[in-house]
Amino acid sequence: MISIIIFGTFSISLKSTGLKNDSMTSSTNDPTLHTPIHNDKEKLLDGLLASEFYDASCISRLQSHLYRKVSPHKPSSYLISKLRNYEEIHRRCGPNGKDYHKSMRKILNSKNIKGDASMCKYLIWTPANGLGNQMVSMAATFLYAILTNRVMLVRFRRDKQGIFCEPFLSSTWLLPEKSPFWNENHVETYQSLIEKEKANNNSKLDLPSSLFLNLQYRPNLHEKFFHCDDSQALIIKVPLLILQSDQYFVPSLFMTPFFNKELEKMFVEKDTVFHHLGRYLFHPSNEAWRLITNFYQAHLAKADEKIGLQIRVFNPISTPQEAIMNLVLNCTIHNKLLPKVLGMKNSMSTSSDKNKAIVKVVLVASLYPEYGDNLKTMYTNKSTSSGEVIEVHQASGEEQQKFNDNKHNMKAWVDMYLLSLSDVLVTTSLSTFGYVAQGLGNLRPWLLYKIISNDTHFPACEREFSMEPCYHAPPKHYCSGKPIKDFASSFIYMRKCKDYWFGVKLVSDINS
Ligand code: GDP
Repeated sequence: MISIIIFGTFSISLKSTGLKNDSMTSSTNDPTLHTPIHNDKEKLLDGLLASEFYDASCISRLQSHLYRKVSPHKPSSYLISKLRNYEEIHRRCGPNGKDYHKSMRKILNSKNIKGDASMCKYLIWTPANGLGNQMVSMAATFLYAILTNRVMLVRFRRDKQGIFCEPFLSSTWLLPEKSPFWNENHVETYQSLIEKEKANNNSKLDLPSSLFLNLQYRPNLHEKFFHCDDSQALIIKVPLLILQSDQYFVPSLFMTPFFNKELEKMFVEKDTVFHHLGRYLFHPSNEAWRLITNFYQAHLAKADEKIGLQIRVFNPISTPQEAIMNLVLNCTIHNKLLPKVLGMKNSMSTSSDKNKAIVKVVLVASLYPEYGDNLKTMYTNKSTSSGEVIEVHQASGEEQQKFNDNKHNMKAWVDMYLLSLSDVLVTTSLSTFGYVAQGLGNLRPWLLYKIISNDTHFPACEREFSMEPCYHAPPKHYCSGKPIKDFASSFIYMRKCKDYWFGVKLVSDINS
């Protein structure tokens, strides 16, 4: 067992976590926070993070490697060069950069702009839905920004303030409070532009200097053909784009011939896109990091095995808790993630017996505290068939999903991050909350079947085949207008998602 000092006053046990000894402390007085960390491959995630970017404003960036296993997936040198290049553009064109005001003025003052190459171009991400949805769509938007040399700015209202660190060196990704682009009412929509073009017999129109593009999941809306070169050739000319999405639309970028070559070079393993971009973008703020590391130290550090169990209930009114509990137990016990319980515990067992036993710690993430409580009661009172000691902890139980609530989002982020530190992960089908955890943690989870009533399902869960998030709303048509019947035969790196028949996700092994 090794101990290190985390957050000044606490020491953390690193027993069997696969983590390494490190003398770093998180106190702002800690000299290691002010020392360059060049060439430190693990801290910089094999070059994903810029070596100049180290300071006490984002402790998690420096310490996350102490909590995670080293990823076997290395970013390509091309991806690293694209990230460094992006940081350069963001520094120059971002809100603190020398070209920001000049470029914004031009965008605001000219109704249409004909290819001014010197001008900065922007992509303003705007949120929709819960935090998991927002994070997968931010990662997709960031990739789109890299591919199109746009600066990504995010509309974070109070609900997301102080949750993440700034991801870009010497700059901010926050859309400035005074920006006129907090509101898109005055901005032309992509849909109306396309309709105007059609009405004009496809003859070219003057393009606006800003455009609103909605890539949210809305089943009955017209398809936008965002994955087609024609669309991209048009969009690329517009200097400022406001993009609203709750989707992980990365697969549609892989479908676009325009971006193919770049993506091929950037991602040698196609199923690591979120793993790399997520670890690059999303660093817990110091406040979030304090909550994460405190919880970790108190409950997870001593485990021989950490099991993350995400129980997302999409229809709490129609789905009884008992049905969900049965599903969870069927999954975890049948797949030997957790042992069966036997009779009541023998109160005579000695402390040396307990010391010898393997300790599995289950981290339950759910809106409902009852799931953690039930599991805890079960394993606290009864002995197990394997002799393992099972501890159960739940970091929060908010009872219901809340919108525009900072503390609620903080808890959600803490839960997602803690889940990502598991050795074994069980998630709920269709949940982007689970996707974030699996992608950050390089985990192929067991996917609990999504039940929506008092039913049972066998198997209760299935093993996921890739850690990439599923894109729930992929295009339905080729650019020619013909319906896409089978993604895998046309797009070699794409497969149907296990948890959502209409969704697609990226795979690396094209034979899988
Ligand atoms: P999805 O709906 O499962 O795809 O995930 P989202 O994250 O997009 O939306 C669900 C939202 O409900 C989260 O962002 C949280 O606000 C809340 N929520 C759901 N499950 C949990 C949980 O296990 N823990 C916490 N803290 N919040 C949760």
